[in-house]
Amino acid sequence: MDLNFLSVKAIIQGLCKKDFTCEEITKEYLNNIAKKDKEINAFFNIDEKQVLSQAKEIDKNFSQKKNDLPLAGLPIAVKDNILVKGQKCSAGSKMLENYEAPYDATVIKKVKQAGAFILGKTNLDEFACGSSGEHSAFSPCKNPNDLEFVAGGSSSGSAAAVAADMTPVAFGSDTAGSVRLPASFCGIVGFKPTYGAISRFGLIAMASSLDQIGILAKKTEDIEIIFDAIRGKDEMDSTSIEVPTGEKINSLNGLIVGLPKACFSQGIDKQVLDITYRAIEKLKIQGVNIKEIEMPNLEYGVACYYIIMPAELSSNLARYDGIKYGSSEDGIKDLIDLYFQTRGRFFGKEIKRRIMLGTYVLSSGYYDAYYLRALKVRTKIKMDFNEAFEKVDFVLTPTSPVLPFKLGQKIEDPLSLYMMDLLTVPANLAGLPSISLPVGKVGSLPVGVQIIAPASEDKKLLAVANLIEKIWTP
Ligand code: GLN
Repeated sequence: MDLNFLSVKAIIQGLCKKDFTCEEITKEYLNNIAKKDKEINAFFNIDEKQVLSQAKEIDKNFSQKKNDLPLAGLPIAVKDNILVKGQKCSAGSKMLENYEAPYDATVIKKVKQAGAFILGKTNLDEFACGSSGEHSAFSPCKNPNDLEFVAGGSSSGSAAAVAADMTPVAFGSDTAGSVRLPASFCGIVGFKPTYGAISRFGLIAMASSLDQIGILAKKTEDIEIIFDAIRGKDEMDSTSIEVPTGEKINSLNGLIVGLPKACFSQGIDKQVLDITYRAIEKLKIQGVNIKEIEMPNLEYGVACYYIIMPAELSSNLARYDGIKYGSSEDGIKDLIDLYFQTRGRFFGKEIKRRIMLGTYVLSSGYYDAYYLRALKVRTKIKMDFNEAFEKVDFVLTPTSPVLPFKLGQKIEDPLSLYMMDLLTVPANLAGLPSISLPVGKVGSLPVGVQIIAPASEDKKLLAVANLIEKIWTP
């Protein structure tokens, strides 16, 4: 069986038509994982026995004609910061190395109810903080296109698993680009919805005003199938919303796409720009109107994010005190000593850096100068988008400012890693839906282009991405 072309849709249909059994495809994926993942390191833990017994159970239901569920028999890989009941959930951190999830995240509950099952949990940067996967406390995931290169982060394992045909689809989380960047680096599709369109209940919090669960797959169509199964208002997440189902779009002709000048200027790799411009030319042939637009505040996105995110992260991570969750240090003197020892030992270097940054920008005397000002800049960025969407239907930029880089190349330079978020973070700050599509390669290294839509136009974005993908697919 050639897993390479086995899309989500093909699996669901194939199972229904009895072209293959769920056990058969599951075995194929497990074999592929056994073959490839020693080197790639996309998965943390897979309980083969349990996975296979679930697959057999699904086959039994098919044979008794009990299966008319929309995702019946579909295996899904899940970033290890999303809770799956009874399974470990480490968030890529020593702090939660032995933590077992007591309940299912809403997205997990929904896909299980729709007939899917969980194949395994995937590698990530610690607490989803990173752009290369190298902040994982359990050694980095590598890029399946070239094992010397990073897979992008923080949903590294999810992107690599899809790209290497170790799963048809995966969940990730995207706070500043963590679904789209690894999708771009690995040559697949990565989608981040409108803030609230997918429930965050059961996602280990990083920066709550920005976090969203996203979907990674090879084709937009596959992403849409999963999105439809998991989106919507959830009483367990008060920020969740219902997005409209959207109209049908059959042609790209007449669409207006904006290119923010700031996203095509200095700081963006020439090879990335060349490929992006070539992709834009293909859009023009389809009748898409391309407009250069001014979005003067986008360039402050990274600076703004690295104040707001650490502020929220430091508050969210305060709960890991050695008592309530996860690991705790032995042989301590008193309560304060327990906090110090536990947090000192089990948090990685990057997490400590961010906690210090966060507590600093929130401390009295600095709050106004940093945190409050960053919130104002965030509003300015939202206003840039509001103005842009009065003139254009979508905004287009490269997904990453650079090509995938070598493992170890940027790890000693936090600022250059932070700059990886330059083009993706504005959509998070403004709460907008955005998708990264693969457009080509430089040698073995994939390049992605991102399309951003107005809030709640997720379905329209997916419909358009589906058309665009057809003309961009190399
Ligand atoms: N590069 C971002 C960071 O390190 C990615 C965060 C994310 O989207 N989870 O904060």
